[in-house]
Amino acid sequence: MGIEAQINTLERNSVAVNNDRVLDVRNLRVNYHTPRGPVRAVNGVSFFLKRGEKLGLVGESGSGKTTTALSLMRLVQEPAVIEGGEVWLDGIDLLRLSEDEMRKARSADIALIPQGAMNSLNPMLKVGEQLRDTMRAHMDGESQSAIDAHIINVLDSVDLRPTVMQAYPHELSGGMKQRVCIAMGILLRPKVIIADEPTSALDVVVQRQVMETLGRVQSEIDASVILVGHDMGLMAQFVDRVGVMYGGKLVEVSPVREIFKDPLHPYTQLLIGSLPTLQAKEMFKGIPGLTPSLFMPPPGCMFHPRCPKAMSHCSVEIPALVEIKPDRWVSCHLYNGGHS
Ligand code: SF4
Repeated sequence: MGIEAQINTLERNSVAVNNDRVLDVRNLRVNYHTPRGPVRAVNGVSFFLKRGEKLGLVGESGSGKTTTALSLMRLVQEPAVIEGGEVWLDGIDLLRLSEDEMRKARSADIALIPQGAMNSLNPMLKVGEQLRDTMRAHMDGESQSAIDAHIINVLDSVDLRPTVMQAYPHELSGGMKQRVCIAMGILLRPKVIIADEPTSALDVVVQRQVMETLGRVQSEIDASVILVGHDMGLMAQFVDRVGVMYGGKLVEVSPVREIFKDPLHPYTQLLIGSLPTLQAKEMFKGIPGLTPSLFMPPPGCMFHPRCPKAMSHCSVEIPALVEIKPDRWVSCHLYNGGHS
């Protein structure tokens, strides 16, 4: 084995034995192949998720947050292609599993509550049948009564009665449908739950109730959560750390309190500055200027055309994401002396 391969193996083993981290994403790259050329939707994203932690991924539309989330589950659809990187879940690189192995890992180890989840329920099937299908796909040989008993327990944990099993989705309110989707996500007690804008279609009161339910069951089954969204108020209430995405890259990852109190990256500063208070539940209002073209991204730092603090070398050198103090990661030349 060459020295480079040995170093790679050592690095991978170190991921495998790092018990604090349930998920370790390294240099994830996803392109959309279009007739105009490749679009770098996710461009070298690296982060980790601690056990029991809730991590928020935020950013404007097109920042790559949803594509990142779907890539962790290997659910991106053509023309999107995962070009490279590693997604270590408890010592196993999901990107190297066979399709069959990955199918088994989905729901059992890493589950997704997708965007518009309530509309993803099959309108033709009763809720109970849909939940049973998920169970059967992973638990061959279990008796129907054991499966139903488990489903009733899980429904109870999301504050739904057993009678919901007999209902068709259209007979349920939006909040109830979203609870069914959470139940589906936690049915097999996954280690990681990815929730992509899980409450975007709900009113504020129901949104809060659904998030409280998600937080409670997450701690009951000791899962970790990645919450994808653009509502900074929701992030402030729910997550432990926030990762801010811009132009397919992570530009800052910090504990939630610190990111609101002392945002480091100029883009994060503008995001936070657009909110009236820490507890606000507003969508952020946007940043002056246009989001970068991912066909022809600007050279150097992607944010430099909009950045009020840009320096001359910002349009030349790409800043790396570095930990400038404990648990505070930022990708900006203001903090690393202009060197990537
Ligand atoms: Fe602004 Fe330069 Fe930092 Fe980019 S690297 S965010 S342009 S200061």
